Amino acid sequence: MRKVVRIAAIGAATALLAGLGWAQPSTIPNGPSGENSSLASLRSYDQLLKALESAVHTSGGAATLHYAPYTSNTGRKVPYVVIGKGPTAALIIAQQHGDEMETSDSAVNLVRDLANNSQASQVIRNSLTVVVVPRVNVDGFDGEKPDGTPLTDASGNTVPWRQNYDPRFTVNPLPAFYTRGRGYDINRYHAFRPECPFDNPNYPNLTTGVTSCETKDIDSKGPYLVSEGNPVPEAKNVRWLNDQYKPVMALDMHHQGTRVHDGQMVTASTLYPTAVDTAVRLQAVDPTALARFNAGQTMAKRVVVVIAQKLAQYPYANLSRYPGGTEPGISRNAYGLLGSGSVLLELRGGIATKSGGYIQKIGYHASMAILDELAKDPTLGGFSPDLADVLVVPANGVPPSGGQGETEEDDPDHLGG
Ligand SMILES: [Zn+2]
Repeated sequence: MRKVVRIAAIGAATALLAGLGWAQPSTIPNGPSGENSSLASLRSYDQLLKALESAVHTSGGAATLHYAPYTSNTGRKVPYVVIGKGPTAALIIAQQHGDEMETSDSAVNLVRDLANNSQASQVIRNSLTVVVVPRVNVDGFDGEKPDGTPLTDASGNTVPWRQNYDPRFTVNPLPAFYTRGRGYDINRYHAFRPECPFDNPNYPNLTTGVTSCETKDIDSKGPYLVSEGNPVPEAKNVRWLNDQYKPVMALDMHHQGTRVHDGQMVTASTLYPTAVDTAVRLQAVDPTALARFNAGQTMAKRVVVVIAQKLAQYPYANLSRYPGGTEPGISRNAYGLLGSGSVLLELRGGIATKSGGYIQKIGYHASMAILDELAKDPTLGGFSPDLADVLVVPANGVPPSGGQGETEEDDPDHLGG
């Protein structure tokens, strides 16, 4: 019986290979082709740097490659590209979570196209200064030990994983949003107070005014919080870019793999800043906090409307409102509290088949649509913020506060991107 099955399987495989041989092009520029072509473009750290260097080199000065001020904990530099010299800044970041690979490709493709000499790209470069960080979390994707082998955590897991690499803590009490013997969730460590770029955003003292950057109630949380401030270099890099460029729009791209829709459809979710409770608390000591947050949230809702109208053109993209959390250290919330139109775009779909290509395309199309519109009007005044919750409805009709719709069972703190 087993033998029969095996022969049948070999027969089927042979037929499949013959079919593929017929269908495949004779030259394959990026390695294996066919349905798995998206996997071939997931770049190692060195390949990512080379891809960015190449895009910048061929841009004739339209794009420049830089490195953020804080190196990762394995000593890697975090690259970012600046395209254009326009008066309005836009910030696009991808892959804060090391195991969310596809959005990094969207960002690299965006860099390439923004740097080319098409008229559309020239219009954007004249109007905007676009800052792209294709891989915030360079260690969590393919970080290496000094001997060149992949990073491992205290439980023996190897990269890629969600967190950065900072394995110092193995006994309770552990820091907030920290995985034992591995590292921090970067997307809970973005400092949100204007005067305090080195805050640990999980323990801010919101009662002492804008110029005091003390943390509160730290004795019970472990000594590492007392002296260190923000312990996450990758989050400090993004905050530094925000402060350097003061972007009117900040897009944070995430990707969650799932087998449910693999090869058929991608579910895209988006959300604007929701940290209104923090804005209200800040207002007591910073009279500009609430107005700043409201301006950021309104702009973010306009960006959401742009995304919704663009993705409506693509039948494989099913856009919903992400049921995200209100933690102020989530980038969507932190940069909103700092006054930026800060938006999460989370894409779902497997990476091994067709949907992987769709994920890249959706991230690319959404980003490019936002930049096109910002280049025409940096206020996005033609897009009503009131439409954000009309066009982008909760997944499965579950309101955001319900939260069930998009929770990852094995990773319950993922809400918020
Ligand atoms: Zn994520």
